[in-house]
Amino acid sequence: SGRLAGKRCFLTAAGQGIGRATALAYAAEGATVVATDRDAEKLSALASQGITTEVLDVLDDAAVAVCIAKHGPFDVAFNCAGFVHQNDVLTCTDADWDFAFALNVRAQWQVIKAVLPGMLEKGGGAIVNMASAAGSVKGVANRFVYGTTKAAVVGMTKSVAADFVARGVRCNCVCPGTVDTPSLGERISANAAAAGGEVAARAAFVGRQAMGRLATAEEIAALVVYLSAPESAFVTGQAVIIDGGWTN
Ligand code: NAD
Repeated sequence: SGRLAGKRCFLTAAGQGIGRATALAYAAEGATVVATDRDAEKLSALASQGITTEVLDVLDDAAVAVCIAKHGPFDVAFNCAGFVHQNDVLTCTDADWDFAFALNVRAQWQVIKAVLPGMLEKGGGAIVNMASAAGSVKGVANRFVYGTTKAAVVGMTKSVAADFVARGVRCNCVCPGTVDTPSLGERISANAAAAGGEVAARAAFVGRQAMGRLATAEEIAALVVYLSAPESAFVTGQAVIIDGGWTN
């Protein structure tokens, strides 16, 4: 039983944060889960929960293809891997630009390319991509290349959805506001000096949120489960905002 019973689900960046919460939520809904991350240590806790784990750096095109060929075909794929640069148009370096597009956009394309043939052969599938409220939904200070890449994710999502809507494959993306995950902790630390300490830096992130709190990774995972499961069969090509009212 479960909302994903009988489904094979693949996801990236499952070692911590939203990816990890989603891997656990997929498993709790009865899916067979293949959880990947570039960091083996972060995956080890999932392996003991009946989840198949595999080390995968999504920047490695060949490794993405091999991993998906080995474990597929899949009914569901969640492209979660991404990195948040804090910069503006003047401080963004060429390296920042190239890395952000490689990880946040190109790697999602590679995963979609690898999972799609198996989905088409099965007669259907659901792809969920990680975008952000920062990007096409809202311009956010100090998120220049990040917002640019996440807007590109929305475009890619809509394009894939349009091309395969008649062949049973859906493609949606999620646009979270600020989520309390390990990497947010790193961004808070990076901002601490300018903000007058870690407490003030965290308060600045919380202060942007109309609800007075950040999202939990589990709250985002619940939306990803919905978009992955048959109950969302009529939803495709959408960028679904989950931000505690931030952009309202
Ligand atoms: P995180 O940033 O704390 O963890 C990221 C995970 O990705 C780590 O386990 C890391 O090992 C893995 N990873 C990094 N590079 C990888 C690579 N090349 N290949 C495979 N795995 C790799 O997690 P998070 O904060 O939940 O963020 C996950 C996604 O959600 C990102 O795409 C991020 O942009 C997006 N997002 C996060 C927030 C937020 O506030 N935390 C908000 C909106 C969107």
